Amino acid sequence: MTVSLDKITPPTDGVRITFDGDRLVVPDNPIIPVIEGDGIGPDIMKATRRVLDAAVEKSYGGKKRIVWFDVYAGDSALEKYGEVLPKDTIEAISYYYVALKGPLTTPVGGGIRSLNVAMRQIMNLYSCVRPVRYFRGVPSPVKAPEKMNIVIYRENTEDVYAGIEWQQGTEDVKKVINFLNNEMGKNIRMDSGIGIKPISIHATKQLVRAAIKYAIKRHKTSVTLVHKGNIMKFTEGAFKDWGYEVARQEFGDVTITEDELWEKYDGKQPEGKIVMKDRIADSMLQQILTRTDEYEVVALPNLNGDYLSDACAAQVGGLGMAPGANIGDKIALFEATHGTAPKYANKDMVNPTSVILSGVMMLEHLEWEKAAQMVYTAIEKTIDQKRVTYDLHRLMDGATKLKTSEYGSALIENM
Ligand code: NAP
Repeated sequence: MTVSLDKITPPTDGVRITFDGDRLVVPDNPIIPVIEGDGIGPDIMKATRRVLDAAVEKSYGGKKRIVWFDVYAGDSALEKYGEVLPKDTIEAISYYYVALKGPLTTPVGGGIRSLNVAMRQIMNLYSCVRPVRYFRGVPSPVKAPEKMNIVIYRENTEDVYAGIEWQQGTEDVKKVINFLNNEMGKNIRMDSGIGIKPISIHATKQLVRAAIKYAIKRHKTSVTLVHKGNIMKFTEGAFKDWGYEVARQEFGDVTITEDELWEKYDGKQPEGKIVMKDRIADSMLQQILTRTDEYEVVALPNLNGDYLSDACAAQVGGLGMAPGANIGDKIALFEATHGTAPKYANKDMVNPTSVILSGVMMLEHLEWEKAAQMVYTAIEKTIDQKRVTYDLHRLMDGATKLKTSEYGSALIENM
């Protein structure tokens, strides 16, 4: 298999990551496509590449190395290709399987609603994965932020995000309401707007399957399905039922339900088993505050996932510290969770931690654990020394304010 690219040439000193069945086969010098991104993208990506390269170099004594391959999306692609999401970029990411991406400007007008959404759809990146954990010293609004260590698996392709809706007052919405009222026996007010919430067996099962596989690989002890099934029985309720079904049918040897935990094991977590739980979404927003450390991996439909991701991130210091990835069956795209913050573009000022931590997720995905751990430790140490960028500096007493590049250097110094 080869890749056909028009305006970019892959580096010759690296090797492609491949698959052996389900398993990623990572060479010592993998080619990894990287999109710098718009606005603050170049600043934070420069720091990120330096930090990741240093961690890999120091961890493996030069034996391993990431071979970055610059590909383009957003403003830089518009300049080079005359379009914001060129085929070259999709081809390269699909071919090399693992990529890192900076933030992209959402185009105003034109055919594409959001570049990020378009990339998820084209490459079927159905899980949005957000690990949320605390770094000591980061200002937090809660008393015990260190209790948070949750990995969120948010469904990425359907639910109310499918974009199926009709505006109030249009001919189309009248047709839909008339159909529902006349043919289906409903009683919807004629002055309503209508949106559709599809939740499928296919999308639910591929998400929950990915969450359970992650829990097995990372030795987690529970997976919690979060839903509003008490009200939306055939969408959110079905999400819960199908989630349990995947666990039972495909992972029956390693999963037990919470009921079984109490009935068979007297509430004591058995070695090597993952407990499948479920929680109603509104209750879960309380639970993350009151029983934070009872949750490890959480799987949710799209909208619940959106709310819970930000609520969890707020507890540990906000989106500036939150990494993320969009992952499909084979392709994994690691990215910053914040936007392009255009007013800070090229000022060497903003916090690169979100995208650095996304890079750490990428190292974990490659199973380069030693390098990943080295970056975590360096971040902990640097924040503990109160050497931070402007955003944390304004919230901390007695801190030293660093530029983006200086913060990157501080991390490398602390490895
Ligand atoms: P934003 O770019 O995330 O910035 C909002 C504010 O968040 C900034 O003004 C800044 O706050 C803070 N912030 C963001 N990143 C930071 C960092 N690395 N370090 C420190 N502070 C940071 O959101 P936006 O202004 O709503 O969106 C701008 C553009 O980004 C839009 O085109 C949007 O569509 C796009 N966007 C892209 C993505 C993506 O590519 N994944 C995600 C979201 C938005 P202060 O000024 O208070 O310090």
